[in-house]
Formats: sequence, structure tokens, C-alpha cells
Amino acid sequence: MSSSPKIALVTGAGRGIGRAIALRLARDGFHVVINDIHLENAQSVVDEIKELGRESFAVQADVSKKDEVFQMVDQAVKHFGQLDVMVSNAGIAQVKPLLEVTEEDMNKIVQINVFGVLYCLQAAAEQKRGKIIHAASIASYKGFSLLGAYSATKFAVRGLTQAAAQELAPFGITVNAYCPGIVDTQMWDLIDEKMAHYMNLKKGEAFRQFSDGITLGRPETPEDVAKFVSYLASEDSDYMTGQSVMIDGGVIFS
Ligand code: NAD
Repeated sequence: MSSSPKIALVTGAGRGIGRAIALRLARDGFHVVINDIHLENAQSVVDEIKELGRESFAVQADVSKKDEVFQMVDQAVKHFGQLDVMVSNAGIAQVKPLLEVTEEDMNKIVQINVFGVLYCLQAAAEQKRGKIIHAASIASYKGFSLLGAYSATKFAVRGLTQAAAQELAPFGITVNAYCPGIVDTQMWDLIDEKMAHYMNLKKGEAFRQFSDGITLGRPETPEDVAKFVSYLASEDSDYMTGQSVMIDGGVIFS
């Protein structure tokens, strides 16, 4: 990287994939703003980044609240003078048969997984420069049983990514998404627990069953995802936009 470090903001970076992305970008030379709804987790990632010799601070904000997202981006730009990379990583999962999904369930997951991505995109685009990166999923290409609401939101992220790439190209902004597979994070702990309930399985069995379908023979780590996001955040991906790319060890072949 050049002598003047670039600035990244990663949402939902207090743990899991977001934390791994933030640490990887710091190792790549970025100063990184850490967002999460849980401040304590975000702060501990800030401490890890500072240990790597990069600058960082935490912003507690709920990505489903437009005002909070715009204030967060404003704070990042005021502090560092610019924002080069926005990683809209925050998201939630829900496990329920579609026939049981309530209006409240659907509103909540759409607010976080779709509006959250939209607000981050709108706020980051005000910079009229840089790279916007979304968390999509293998569920952006295939609707999964018991993950219907979640799959719908991740299909939406793929649509937003394609449309935003076209609308923001005139400003020199690229927009791409990463599509992880079965990543061993606390999100999967929750999915496993709920699937066990609906599928009459023991704890850990749903995760194992899904992992058995991975071509490369092992579950994904947050760092596997972060390596690809490192590329999307770098100049090496300058000629790429509008893409939602599977980084899943071979679960889905599109
Ligand atoms: P995780 O649940 O371990 O971490 C998500 C983080 O986002 C948490 O720290 C949480 O506090 C934060 N968060 C949740 N709602 C928020 C909000 N409204 N505002 C700000 N922060 C919020 O999840 P993960 O497994 O690390 O997943 C990260 C992203 O990757 C998500 O978008 C998820 O849908 C996607 N993804 C995960 C997997 C997987 O297998 N784990 C697979 C495909 C895609």
C-alpha cells in the first residue's frame, strides 16, 4: 500500500466474519472503523487492530436505522478525512418454515439485511469514490428450506449489488458482494440450534450435514471469507463491479 493508508468501515465487525475482514484489512494497511450494535465487541476488535499498528475506533450503530448509518459514515469521514471502502457485513439469520414466518419476523430481517445494506450504500456513495462491498451468501443464489426469509434478503442484496454497480459507476464507485457458504461462526450456532428443533436433530448435526456437502471437505473459516474481501477492497479488483461471488469451498456452482 502507499504511504497514506486507505480507510475502511466494516459493519457487524464485533465478531465472526466482520471481525476477520476488519483484521485482514488492517493487515493489508487500512485504518479501519469498526461498527457493531454491541459496543463492547467492537471495542475489543479496535484494540486488536491498534496492536497491528493501524488506527481504529468503534461506532455503535444499528444498520437498520438510517440516521445512525449516516452519522456513522459522517464520523468516519470527519475523523480520517475520507472513506475508501465500505463493507456492509452486518446481518442476521432466522430459521423457520415459511408458513410460520410472521410479519414481525420478515420486517426485522428485511430491515437489517436489506435496508441495512441500502443505507450503508447511500451513505458511502456520498463520498463519490471508492469501493462498496456487501455480504451476500450462497443463499443469494439458492433458496434454502427453513431459511426462506433469510434467502429472500440475500437474493435482494444480489439485486442491489447489480443495480448499484450501474448507478454508481459514473462516480468511479465499484459495488461487489461476497457469498460465503457454511462458515463456523455464532450465526451458524443459532442456525444449527433452530434446525435441530425443526428437523429433530441433535446439536451439531445440522452443521455437520450442511458441511458434508462442501466440495473442499471442511467448513469455511471467517478468514477464508476475509481473504476474498481483501481482494475486493484492493486495487486488484478495480475492473470488477456488480458481481456477487461465491467463496464457499464449492457448495453452489453457479
Ligand atoms: P455473526 O452473527 O457471527 O456476526 C454478525 C455481527 O453483526 C454481530 O457482531 C452482530 O452484533 C452484528 N449485527 C447484527 N445486527 C446488527 C445491526 N442491526 N447493526 C449492526 N450490527 C449488527 O454473523 P457472521 O456469520 O459473522 O455473518 C456476517 C455476515 O455474513 C452476515 O451478513 C451473514 O448473513 C453473512 N453470511 C454468513 C454465513 C455463515 O455461514 N456464517 C454464510 C453466508 C453469509
